[in-house]
Amino acid sequence: MTTAERTGTLTGQMIIAGEYVTGTGRAIQAVNPATDKLLTPAYGHGDAADVERATAAAWQAFGPYRNTTSADRAHFLDTIADNVDAARDELVERATAETGLPAARITGEVGRTSGQLRLFASVLREGSWHGARIDPALPDRTPLPRPDIRQRRIPLGPVAVFGASNFPLAFSVAGGDTASALAAGCPVVVKAHDAHPGTSELVGKAITAAIVASGMPAGTFSLLYGAGSELGVALVTDPNIKAVGFTGSRSGGTALVRAAAARPEPIPVYAEMSSINPVYPLAGALRADAAGLGRAFVGSLTMGSGQFCTNPGLVIAVDGPDLDTFIESASQAVSGSTPTPMLTPNIARSYTGGVDEFEKAATVVARGERPEGPNACRAALFATDADTFLASTELQQEIFGASSLIVKCRDQQQVREVTAKLEGQLTATVHAADTDHDDAAELVGDLELKAGRILFNGWPTGVEVGHAMVHGGPYPSTSDSRTTSVGSLAIERFLRPVAYQDVPDALRPAAIADGNPEHIWRRIDGELTRD
Ligand code: NAP
Repeated sequence: MTTAERTGTLTGQMIIAGEYVTGTGRAIQAVNPATDKLLTPAYGHGDAADVERATAAAWQAFGPYRNTTSADRAHFLDTIADNVDAARDELVERATAETGLPAARITGEVGRTSGQLRLFASVLREGSWHGARIDPALPDRTPLPRPDIRQRRIPLGPVAVFGASNFPLAFSVAGGDTASALAAGCPVVVKAHDAHPGTSELVGKAITAAIVASGMPAGTFSLLYGAGSELGVALVTDPNIKAVGFTGSRSGGTALVRAAAARPEPIPVYAEMSSINPVYPLAGALRADAAGLGRAFVGSLTMGSGQFCTNPGLVIAVDGPDLDTFIESASQAVSGSTPTPMLTPNIARSYTGGVDEFEKAATVVARGERPEGPNACRAALFATDADTFLASTELQQEIFGASSLIVKCRDQQQVREVTAKLEGQLTATVHAADTDHDDAAELVGDLELKAGRILFNGWPTGVEVGHAMVHGGPYPSTSDSRTTSVGSLAIERFLRPVAYQDVPDALRPAAIADGNPEHIWRRIDGELTRD
């Protein structure tokens, strides 16, 4: 029976090129982290044969799929978005049960997911994604004539996507990695995260139904369940896979980078991993409203049990009475914070373990209220001085959850010394009054080398999906700092340039053909034009 014939309820099966397949490996069930109750159905893990079947189908689909028009792929992405929106109620019910996240958050994530798909549809229709460049022939140039050279970008091939635990929709089966890869013309094989298999299946159905409705090749999408160290590694090392998108832990991401690099044909892995997102309240900003900043900081810290890659895990500031006021205010807010469930029992355990380690190395400023339910995140705020921080590798590690460390510096010069020692970050946040602009200017220069996004007088949680956004940064925030996993630029991860020299016009792809049949922006002899 094909997926298209299925309706409604969850099957507990994988979807391989439009077919439902029962995994014969270990069966897993999602756990409701708010209650510790198991959710049905069970999902059997797939094996190496399932990986081969999905990747062979993806490779077979790649030829026809990459030759679909931008308009056809845009329509396909819009159809997935419509299907995701249509499944909203079922998605909210299942995803809240599987993640413990509130319904309002999941509802927002459904909208963000369909919005991302529609953004990439608009990118396809606009056309500059082709990267079309034309250097016309100069037959009379001396001493040598110039040939006609035209460049466009083509998709890399089938992409393996690892669903993230902390965004069961927006960074999972039809999330940003999948949307940008499909937009680029790459079939996608998703390894679902075991924390939300039912949500994954519902979204997998939405994509598969869109494939049928849009007439795309069946192998354009598959959804597999399995252990990362087995099925995940098999997927990344499969010769039919040509790139990888991942969001998760540093250890998981680096293991996949190593596996991909060790292949006979190494492939790119775009892994978004670990970031502690430093916040810099500068002197003038603290003088203006230290108490308000402290409260707002804790709002960002505790949102979603702190389970955001952009969670503010570090505050770096010059010591003094205004910083004391900030700490006092933040301490009160943390002490009054209500624990909420974390995504999985494992994530809750590793949060508690991380906080226990910090308790040995830094001063405990405040802890949130004691939890009543299981797997809850009890917020934690620590403080230390810059010398201790600089001497400790432990204190520079990410604790995934609502934990943050305040580093007290002697002066602004020490703030910069601490910054120079930080690892790569997704974000860096500066709070500055007008009187801080000299310090802020120096800091921005330092932070450009450390972070993918620098923001002023706001909070890093909440990533706008648009054309200018960068959700990336130097290692270990990502494995490749040259790009982003959020926003329209993400499509470039799955494309590569090809130059066509003296190719007859009849054989040229439309994007670089004479007369600009697709009416797209092209760089002709260095000038951007739609002519
Ligand atoms: P994770 O353990 O990295 O898992 C993410 C995905 O990668 C899963 O599908 C997992 O499969 C797979 N995987 C993990 N280790 C692997 C390996 N060695 N080889 C191949 N595949 C592997 O992340 P998580 O489950 O989401 O959360 C665990 C921790 O990750 C958190 O406590 C937190 O520290 C961190 N995290 C960070 C971010 C961030 O944005 N910075 C986001 C989410 C999580 P299996 O489940 O089968 O292992």
